[in-house]
Amino acid sequence: MCGIVGYVGNRSAVEVLLKGLQRLEYRGYDSTGVAFQKGNRIEIEKSEGKLENIFKRFKEMDLNRAPVSTVGIGHTRWATHGKPTTQNAHPHRTGSIVLVHNGIIENYREIKEDLMKKGHEPQSETDSELFGFLVLEELKLKKSFIDAVRFAFQKLEGACSVVVMSENDPDTVIGIRNGSPLVAGIDSEGAIYLASDPQPLLDYTKKVVYLENGDMAIAKRSGLEFRDVITGKVVQRETIELQWSVEQIDKQGYPHFMLKEIYEQPTALIDTFNSNLDRIDPTSFPLAKHPGVDKLMNASELHLIACGTSYYASLVGKYWLEKYARVSTQVEFASEFRYRDPVLDDRALIVGVSQSGETADTLAVLRDLKKKGKATAAVSNVRGSTISRETDGAFFTSAGPEIGVAATKSFLTQMGIFLLWTGAFLERRKKGSADGLFEETVHLPHVLKNYLDDSSGIREKIKEAARATVTKKGFFFIGRGSSYPLALEGALKLKEIAYVHAEGYAAGELKHGPIAMIDENVVVIVLAPKDGWRDKTISNLEEVKARGAQIIGVGDPSDRHLQDLSHHFIPLPTLKNEDLNVFPLSIVVQLFSYELATLKGTDIDKPRNLAKSVTVE
Ligand code: GLU
Repeated sequence: MCGIVGYVGNRSAVEVLLKGLQRLEYRGYDSTGVAFQKGNRIEIEKSEGKLENIFKRFKEMDLNRAPVSTVGIGHTRWATHGKPTTQNAHPHRTGSIVLVHNGIIENYREIKEDLMKKGHEPQSETDSELFGFLVLEELKLKKSFIDAVRFAFQKLEGACSVVVMSENDPDTVIGIRNGSPLVAGIDSEGAIYLASDPQPLLDYTKKVVYLENGDMAIAKRSGLEFRDVITGKVVQRETIELQWSVEQIDKQGYPHFMLKEIYEQPTALIDTFNSNLDRIDPTSFPLAKHPGVDKLMNASELHLIACGTSYYASLVGKYWLEKYARVSTQVEFASEFRYRDPVLDDRALIVGVSQSGETADTLAVLRDLKKKGKATAAVSNVRGSTISRETDGAFFTSAGPEIGVAATKSFLTQMGIFLLWTGAFLERRKKGSADGLFEETVHLPHVLKNYLDDSSGIREKIKEAARATVTKKGFFFIGRGSSYPLALEGALKLKEIAYVHAEGYAAGELKHGPIAMIDENVVVIVLAPKDGWRDKTISNLEEVKARGAQIIGVGDPSDRHLQDLSHHFIPLPTLKNEDLNVFPLSIVVQLFSYELATLKGTDIDKPRNLAKSVTVE
């Protein structure tokens, strides 16, 4: 969601801030702004809409004005309180105080009432602006800038971060984290950066500190220091060396990050295997030792808690974990799980699955259950993320930075982790049978690489199917067994980036209702790989074909019957183990959504209304 950048250094602050905000654009936003120090003044430029608007302002302006500044803060807003207008965009100025804020101030009504009684008049509809007045109130009590910010922050309820400057305390930027993520870094020249995630820092340094909740980062020319927001005492924080490179966060010739990330999947999968396994072995999966592994292996049952695409990856995991490892596995949306009273075994392991590791709904569940004494674990793509630090053991996908808002490689690598878990259970418990699972998994990244290669012709076939169906009124993705979660994921991708109505359905369920919608204006994408469910899925295909639907069949190249029934046919690579078909299937549904969205001309990497890491409930 929203993005924050702060800078104290020697470069042009405006340049650093704008570049940093560009790096954060993928998170989703609706308005932007920067504030930069000019002598004793702080100037603000902000605008509704895209970051280009701010770039234009600086181009139109006398450029000598901005670059002389070397201290500033910037923000991309994802509106929660008040419309996405220029007035509501951050930074907000209140007297000498200028601030940006991420998240929600839950007690903003009471704060607002109180401030208005004291004669303050907020200029925006946001909750954020109120924080500036709280700081002014503290300054009236003759507190230092740092203490005023500290005490004002203690009045806020809810998960949020703020980054603040003051016209009376030049060359200082203060950031506080409580819930919404914030990282800090210093480059080799001593310049200090603050940001919502490490990506804006990668251009300058790989050494970052993830602030903990309740941490205050004070950036001055003299250096960076961390304090506890409650006690004001200095705290030491560990510096982490980032594994990501700046090349990974550039498009490298691809028209969209999403397409680049689809093509990166074979490598992401190899990296995920390598980083989670002790050694790659075609007969077993020995997981690399860490606290999460013991928690996992001792669990009597698993509860995978997730949202969106992570939820669908977890559903696939359930098939494998139950079938091969005989571990009872429940999968549930975090936002639902939180508000019911589930029956959990004493040795149940609650696993939060979240690409960013900051998903508010998922974090809330884990915190609640941890308080109740339950063991928790995480699957995340971001080392140092909140979820990975707050759980008893974290497993990391090594997908590299995922910039496209629609998840692709994080989905595939999350499935990869569940596959490794399945193998680890099989190995430790010596239950169930592996069915050639290990041998073929070792080759899987190569199979996917060849599948994505131009010579397979797969992309052309998918493009053709997209061209033929782009004007249709609705799409059903259907599948059975482990293809069912892929049907759900396919429909989600299409909704997210092409803005068309799409539904994922268990193929056997169509006749219990939605078949009423089928006519020649509806497209049915049938996920029917060669597996134990294929024959039943084909019968369901016949039912929709008879009612006039346009059929896109996805299955084994040898499946003549499926090809004959389909208007368009997408062949899958032939895999011996039927359970691995979900990997190439995910490439098919991702590319189909991508091609259809390209034809529709939507903003593929930054779909409207969406945010990459959803840090509000
Ligand atoms: N609640 C604040 C607003 O609506 C901050 C939103 C954000 O995180 O961007 O302005």
